Parts: sequence; structure tokens; C-alpha cells
Amino acid sequence: RVVREPPQIRRLDESVVNRIAAGEVIQRPVSAVKELVENSLDAHSTSINVVVKDGGLKLIQVSDDGHGIRYEDLPILCERHTTSKLSAFEDLQSIKSMGFRGEALASMTYVGHVTVTTITEGQLHGYRVSYKDGVMEHEPKACAAVKGTQIMVENLFYNMTARRKTLQNASDDYSKIVDLMSRFAIHHVDVSFSCRKHGAARVDVHSVATHNRLNAIRSVYGVSVAQSLMEVEASDDDPSSSVFQMGGLISNFSFAAKKTTMVLFINDRLVDWTALKRALEIVYSATLPKASKPFIYMSIVVPPEHVDVNVHPTKREVSLLNQEVIIEQIQSVVESKLRSSDDSRTYEEQT
Ligand code: ADP
Ligand code: MG
Repeated sequence: RVVREPPQIRRLDESVVNRIAAGEVIQRPVSAVKELVENSLDAHSTSINVVVKDGGLKLIQVSDDGHGIRYEDLPILCERHTTSKLSAFEDLQSIKSMGFRGEALASMTYVGHVTVTTITEGQLHGYRVSYKDGVMEHEPKACAAVKGTQIMVENLFYNMTARRKTLQNASDDYSKIVDLMSRFAIHHVDVSFSCRKHGAARVDVHSVATHNRLNAIRSVYGVSVAQSLMEVEASDDDPSSSVFQMGGLISNFSFAAKKTTMVLFINDRLVDWTALKRALEIVYSATLPKASKPFIYMSIVVPPEHVDVNVHPTKREVSLLNQEVIIEQIQSVVESKLRSSDDSRTYEEQT
């Protein structure tokens, strides 16, 4: 038997640590778009425009009309763990902003080239500066700028060969970005969004600030989706079981699709909640046996201290207090809505 010496444990270079961490936060081009758009929303923008080249691998550009970034903050803007949104861990309990970790921009500079152009209220000109590996590549240069911030990410994953290879289907990633922007557009109805390919005249997502969700859905997902939607609401204010409010729009028996579309926001945060999605698919197939998969938009509001937003590097999942109770109550509201709409259809068919 060969007795092996234990291998020596060494400390990784900081640059290796940063690139590994960045690869978790920015999994695909669409993760970068999500982080950038959420930053624009956090900056109270009313208009957010996205341009994408090569599925986001060549270029992602997000422009907003938000409050901009202070000149003095530019040197540390893209350092890891620098943020204007959180100071104490306890603040996470009541955080209203999408961001809180100060990791998104930093991550992008470790796996791509980032250029920021920004102007704040009352300034005569803006500043432009590029970043690599967390630091400014040069002093900020004065430049012409309109209100807000534009962030450009070029050559994403240029230093991650394996990642680049697995992401070669650019059209696939572009459709993920379009899907993401569509979701934002129907929730944030007071913000106008657009998304297009670089150099294309056609805009693939376009919404104007309407303040009307059905109009937003009509312009983003089309007339046939909008036509088949019914409003649902549920709430529970009993602290002993759960506290939540849900408002949404769900498709009726006349809607036809092969795949479920579930657009879910919890406390204004775009998330995936597979358990709720499955639960609602079950209600649909039990209530409307011949019906296709549903379209569901839902916005759930719970007390901030009932949701843990810090469970996943992409923040795409959250963990929630009283999950089962909330799912059951939403299931039953959806079921009775579907039954009553199905009854009225049977009635219409008979008369
Ligand atoms: P986080 O959003 O978690 O704070 P980010 O790395 O995404 O971390 O952003 C770092 C900081 O940069 C933010 O806290 C914010 O102050 C500023 N910032 C980023 N994007 C914008 C933007 N579009 N408009 C204004 N400020 C921004
Ligand atoms: Mg952020």
C-alpha cells in the first residue's frame, strides 16, 4: 500500500477567487441583463432600453434615465462588495431594492469589459470610464450625456473558454433576454422598456408606461393572451397562518399554449417558485382537463421579514415563510375562478 502525503493546501489568488465567484453570479448573458435592469429600476428610472449583440456575448448595453452615479463613487463602483443599498446585515430584513450585495457590476468586470457613462442631476456633462477586474482602467473622462446611466458589457466570458463554448447558440440567449424583458415590462407598468438586437430597426420588446397591466400584457405578449385573462386576488391577514396579498391575471379555458408561462414577482422581485407553478398546473389540468398550459401573472406581497432574498447567487429564488399555506390559498382561489368561468362557458354554449 502506498502511503500518500496529504497535498498542501494553498490560498487561491484573489483574481481566481473573483473569477470563480463572478461565474456564479453571471451565469449567462441574461443574468447580466437582469442585474443591469434591476440596477436601473433601483435608480428610479422611468425608461430602460436594452441593446444586445450576439446573444449578449459581444455586447449588452442598458441605458436608463435614473439618478445616475456620483463622480466620487466611480473609483469603487465596480469593486466587489461596494453598494449604496445596504450597510448592516440586518437591513436585509427590510430591503426594498433589488440589489444589496454590490457584486453584480464587479462580477461583470471579472468576466467581461465594462464601460459606464453616467450623469447626475444638475451636471453640465457626464463621465465615461471603463473597468477591468474590478478597477478603473483610466480616470473618468468628461463626455456629453443625457439623464441617467448607460452600462455597456463587451465580450462577456472572454476569459472563460468552457462557458463561451456552452453558450454558442446566440439566438437561444437572445430569446431568454427578450423573455426577461417581457416579464419586467408587464410588472413595472410605470416604466417603459425596450429591447432590440444591435443594429436592428425592429424592437422585440416595447412597452410604454401605461399604468395598465392588461394593456402592457397586450403589447408585450399579444392580443390573444390578453383576451383570455381573468383577474384573481387572494389575501390572508392572519399572522398565525400567513400574511400575504396576491393579485394576478390568469388565462381561462380559451387560451392555448404548450408551455406554462408563469411570471411571478414577490415583493416586486422577479423570482421562480417551482412549487407554486406546479401547484397551479395541477389545478388547471384538474379543472380544465382539455385545456392547454396556462399563462399566469402574479404579484405576491408579504412582509419583508417573511422573505429571505439571499439564498441564491443569481437571486432568482427566495425562501418564504408559510410557503404551504400561501400555495394552498392561491390554489383554491384559482380553482374557483376557473370553475366559475367554465360554468359560464357551459351556460353560454347551452343558450
Ligand atoms: P448592488 O445593486 O447590489 O448595490 P451593483 O454591483 O449591481 O450592486 O451596483 C453597485 C452600485 O452601483 C449600486 O449600489 C448603485 O449605487 C450603483 N449603480 C449601478 N447601476 C446603476 C444605475 N444604472 N444607476 C445608478 N446607480 C447605479
Ligand atoms: Mg445591482
